[in-house]
Amino acid sequence: MHGDVNPSAVPSAKGNTPSRAEAPPPLRATCWGTRGSIPSPGPTTARFGGNTSCLEVRTREDRCYIFDAGTGIRVLGNRLAQNPQPTDVDLFVTHFHWDHIQGIPFFAPLHAEDTYIRIHAARQGDLDIETLLKGQMGPVYFPVPYATLAARLSFEHLTGGAWHDNGIEVAAYRVRHPAHTYGYRIRTTGASVAYIPDNELVGARYPVDGPAWYEGLVDFLADVDVLFHDAMFTDEEYPEVEGWGHSTFNQAVALAEDAGVKRLFFFHHAPERTDADLLRILDEVRADVERRGSTLDLGVAAEGEEVMVQERTS
Ligand SMILES: [Zn+2]
Ligand SMILES: [Zn+2]
Repeated sequence: MHGDVNPSAVPSAKGNTPSRAEAPPPLRATCWGTRGSIPSPGPTTARFGGNTSCLEVRTREDRCYIFDAGTGIRVLGNRLAQNPQPTDVDLFVTHFHWDHIQGIPFFAPLHAEDTYIRIHAARQGDLDIETLLKGQMGPVYFPVPYATLAARLSFEHLTGGAWHDNGIEVAAYRVRHPAHTYGYRIRTTGASVAYIPDNELVGARYPVDGPAWYEGLVDFLADVDVLFHDAMFTDEEYPEVEGWGHSTFNQAVALAEDAGVKRLFFFHHAPERTDADLLRILDEVRADVERRGSTLDLGVAAEGEEVMVQERTS
């Protein structure tokens, strides 16, 4: 369908029986922030959103996993704060560039005593996660002292590999970006979602590099149901921005096809990219994909939309 980007309006094509369709799917993913670099509100970005990176993934049992804490996490936090249940979540941070942490001080559950948040991320050089958060909330930058936060916080420093909790696996893979940056994959029986908002697939040099790195990434994403991937630039723009740590729309498509990903959502939209631009680019890239006979399903990540990840039947 021309310009169709509302994934929640698209019936599952995964062969669900009617009875299964009534049960919650194994995973549901909601983008609370899709923008890269800096919030970009305004009439030209209203459809796909102006908040920076934040993805919520919920399991069938309603466990909440949050990926990144850009300004989008403020809106999610307000939702969680309305819930009569205490907030008990795992937050996985890809890296500590502003657009991935700026919402943390404004995350309402931090100010509730019955909140428990486990924060997972890579240490940045000598800096542990708590030191980074304290720095972000230092008095020069923010009026509420870190020490007064009511929530219980714990910190898990990742070095790659996988983390398990109640039948859920979250795996981390280091990607090509300035700073020690992870991409994440969350998996449960029958469904998986991957989130890689900042990753320069081609060009520049990084501590992780080369064919072995790419093959490792393809393995990491093998048969993933839904991938949210960095697609910040067009091929025409890329030569000017090589080394900034980001990919093009077509590079993200090539990765998704190499890995056999089922649905790819373009993510980390450039601040100046309008809704009209994104729709036009989606149409162009989709036409190319269809011309090649690829079965990859494409979309543009849109703030506030819930993506249902139905159980695979094969
Ligand atoms: Zn970013
Ligand atoms: Zn970044």
